[in-house]
Amino acid sequence: MFNEQADATFFSPGRINLIGEHTDYNGGHVFPAAISLGTYGVARKRDDQICRFYSANFKDDGIIEINLNQLILTKEDGWTNYPKGVIKFLIEAGHPIDTGFDLYVYGNIPNGSGLSSSASLELLTGIVAEELYDLTLERLDLVKIGKKTENDFIGVNSGIMDQFAVGMGADKRAIYLDTNSLDYELVPLDLADNVIVIMNTNKRRELADSKYNERRTECETALAELNQKLTIDSLGAIDA
Ligand code: ADP
Ligand code: MG
Repeated sequence: MFNEQADATFFSPGRINLIGEHTDYNGGHVFPAAISLGTYGVARKRDDQICRFYSANFKDDGIIEINLNQLILTKEDGWTNYPKGVIKFLIEAGHPIDTGFDLYVYGNIPNGSGLSSSASLELLTGIVAEELYDLTLERLDLVKIGKKTENDFIGVNSGIMDQFAVGMGADKRAIYLDTNSLDYELVPLDLADNVIVIMNTNKRRELADSKYNERRTECETALAELNQKLTIDSLGAIDA
């Protein structure tokens, strides 16, 4: 695509959640796992200030060019706003990304179906940067930068579960995560003869999105009302 030889290739998983819906933004527990569907990337460092992006999932967009000095959300830049946000927040955190890169992306996660293709793309960008620029980064820092991108750059009010599962998942393990303290345990997930079936019903989830925000508001209202009697900073802080 770019007529250049790549420096390195990458893979970032998607995720499923097994237990704990609407608990990650309430400081509760979740039990997600990384899956083998995910996002592949091929990348090469450049000498100038340009980043070039191409996704085989968004062929019509062609190659999208971004200047490292212009890391702002724009509608025309489409899907590349995700990598843009990650790079912006890495630079803001003091990581030395002083030249651009070329990134070719292909994902086999159906977008927008709840397997977190966006978190997968965010973490992919993070590990590409970590490798190309030889950054010193804890994986948890990348997880937080992915969430920050989703919340403060893209504008989706989601919790930390998706990025945590994508960034911290391991083979044949699910993650028992306390979203308040971020304490976690990689739990062996031995399915023996069983399989987890993920079905793509091809139903758009606009409605689910609006319900998501409604649930969030309800939880915030409940927290405010409970705080008339208690002193808690999340619903997850209440003992059963
Ligand atoms: P979900 O995370 O549940 O899959 P989102 O709406 O949060 O759904 O994220 C989907 C968006 O993420 C896509 O519209 C696109 O902008 C971006 N994205 C995900 N995977 C890819 C990919 N392989 N190539 C380009 N963009 C992608
Ligand atoms: Mg998403």
